[in-house]
Amino acid sequence: MIESITSFESVDLSNNLLNSQLIVCDIDNTILYIPIFKTYAYFYKLVKNMFPNKSRYILYSEASKLFNENKKAAYEENSCVTDFIGFQRLLNRIREIDGKLIYLTARSSYSIQITKKQFEENGLIYDEANTYYTNNTIHKGDFLEKVLKIDTKTPIIFIDDLDDNLNNVAYKYPNSKCYKFIYDKSR
Ligand SMILES: [Mg+2]
Repeated sequence: MIESITSFESVDLSNNLLNSQLIVCDIDNTILYIPIFKTYAYFYKLVKNMFPNKSRYILYSEASKLFNENKKAAYEENSCVTDFIGFQRLLNRIREIDGKLIYLTARSSYSIQITKKQFEENGLIYDEANTYYTNNTIHKGDFLEKVLKIDTKTPIIFIDDLDDNLNNVAYKYPNSKCYKFIYDKSR
């Protein structure tokens, strides 16, 4: 089940089936907003529209090039927290139920230092042991199952802004509750 939310306050931890609950949260456009950050999917669509007859391989490599250039520029821009108070309250609520939060990002592991810096600049604590980077090479649901070895029956709570990630996790983890985070810039 996927529910759209604009604040972390709406994440429901009350249906706690287990003593300890696992919350998995994305970073870009979920916790942190970076003004000019655009997704890989955005660039793929862009080059596909520009060159409808090119092979997938060419589209893939062109999109990757644009994505990486944009990412480099984006990470030098100022970032901000999408919902600072809501997120702090969520952290408190997770502590109260003795839950565990992991951060799961498609960023590459080369961005550990910049990620740490962005968390700290924004008054967030960077949790090195619980922050994972997929390097954009594996779906998030597959990463949870195959890399972190989390049983697919686990009722995880998953928060992300991208439908692809949400659908993949909802499919892999049928007992999960998935939240699509929509950043409301007017907040
Ligand atoms: Mg994201």
